[in-house]
Parts: sequence; C-alpha cells; structure tokens
Amino acid sequence: MAVIGSGPAGLAAADRLNRMGFHVTVYEKDLHPGGILRYGIPNFKLDNRIVDRRIDLMKEEGIVFECGIVVGRDISYNYLKRHFASILLTGGSCQPRDLDIPGRELSGIYPAMAYLSAQNKRIIGEPLFVEEDITARDKNVVIIGGGDTGSDCLGTA
Ligand SMILES: Cc1cc2nc3c(=O)[nH]c(=O)nc-3n(C[C@H](O)[C@H](O)[C@H](O)COP(=O)(O)OP(=O)(O)OC[C@H]3O[C@@H](n4cnc5c(N)ncnc54)[C@H](O)[C@@H]3O)c2cc1C
Repeated sequence: MAVIGSGPAGLAAADRLNRMGFHVTVYEKDLHPGGILRYGIPNFKLDNRIVDRRIDLMKEEGIVFECGIVVGRDISYNYLKRHFASILLTGGSCQPRDLDIPGRELSGIYPAMAYLSAQNKRIIGEPLFVEEDITARDKNVVIIGGGDTGSDCLGTA
C-alpha cells in the first residue's frame, strides 16, 4: 500500500493498514514526516519529540517513510500503480484561503502556515529558502483571524 502524505490522516491509515498485515510505504514531500503536526502546530503546543517518537515506533513496526518526494513530480502515478496494489491520497490541504482586499499585494503579508512552518523548520534545523525565511522579530504584527491558527501565530510571534 502506498500512502501519499504523512499528516495525521496518512499516519493513522498507515498504522491501521500495517496492523492488518499490509506492507505500507508513506511518501511525503517535506523532509520530515508529520504534516501539520510537525510543520504547522507550534512546538510549544506539540513538541516535535512526541511526533518523532511516534514515527520511530511506526518505522520499527515496519512502515517505510520516503520523505522529500513530491508525488506527481518526483514519482508518477504510473510508477505507484506498478509497485503498489492500492494508493491512498492523504495530502491534506496546502492552499491557504486568501483575502481579496485592497493592499493584499503589499509585501510582508503572509498566510499563517507560511509563517508557522518557517518557525518549525528553524527549530528542527531545516534549511529555509530566502522567500520562506519569515520572522516577526523586531516587527509590529497584525493577525487577521482570532481562531486557533491565529492564536498559534500569536504565541509564535
Ligand atoms: C496552524 C494549525 C494548527 C492546528 N492545531 C491543531 C491542534 O492543536 N489540534 C488538532 O487536533 N488539530 C489542529 N489543526 C488541524 C490539523 O492539523 C489538521 O486537521 C490535520 O493536520 C489534517 O491532517 P491531514 O493528514 O489531512 O493533512 P496534513 O497534516 O496537511 O498532511 C498532509 C501531508 O501530505 C503531504 N503532501 C501533500 N501533497 C503531497 C504530494 N504530492 N506528495 C507527497 N506528499 C504530499 C503534505 O506535505 C503534508 O505533510 C491545526 C491546523 C493548523 C493549520
């Protein structure tokens, strides 16, 4: 079985399928598995060591993780079809909901996940491209949206 995406959905499915006796390979485009568990939710709310511990247990149980691979770019559907009996799509939602308002095109305005994943990458020592390197240091910050994601941005800033 091939599982595309290693967020909570992919991890839960991989775990269940593995327990049922299937050979499971999880493909993940990021360098580390976990999806939003690792790259979205701030470390002060969910320590990366907890995610690592769970992934390590899953590896010991036989699940294979192939990270840094974008399915559809680095490997094709035809490749997966040749090598796996079933393919599970658990790619999450990578599109931010934008605001169509005057001034949105100005610099220094980011979707929450771009900001939160930059900080999480910094914590785990992952290299950041210049355009990814977003920080609130020495800036005045406005957060639009007062829900859980806004509160994660607030805590991070
Ligand atoms: C900022 C934030 C904070 C949150 N806090 C909480 C919380 O505290 N508690 C809670 O219960 N929920 C929280 N949530 C919600 C929760 O994180 C999501 O509901 C959950 O992560 C969705 O899981 P998923 O596996 O569907 O997607 P994701 O976690 O997004 O995982 C999808 C994975 O698929 C990978 N992927 C996508 N396309 C490809 C491809 N082509 N090839 C290879 N890999 C691919 C992505 O890189 C990603 O790793 C939060 C969400 C956000 C954004």
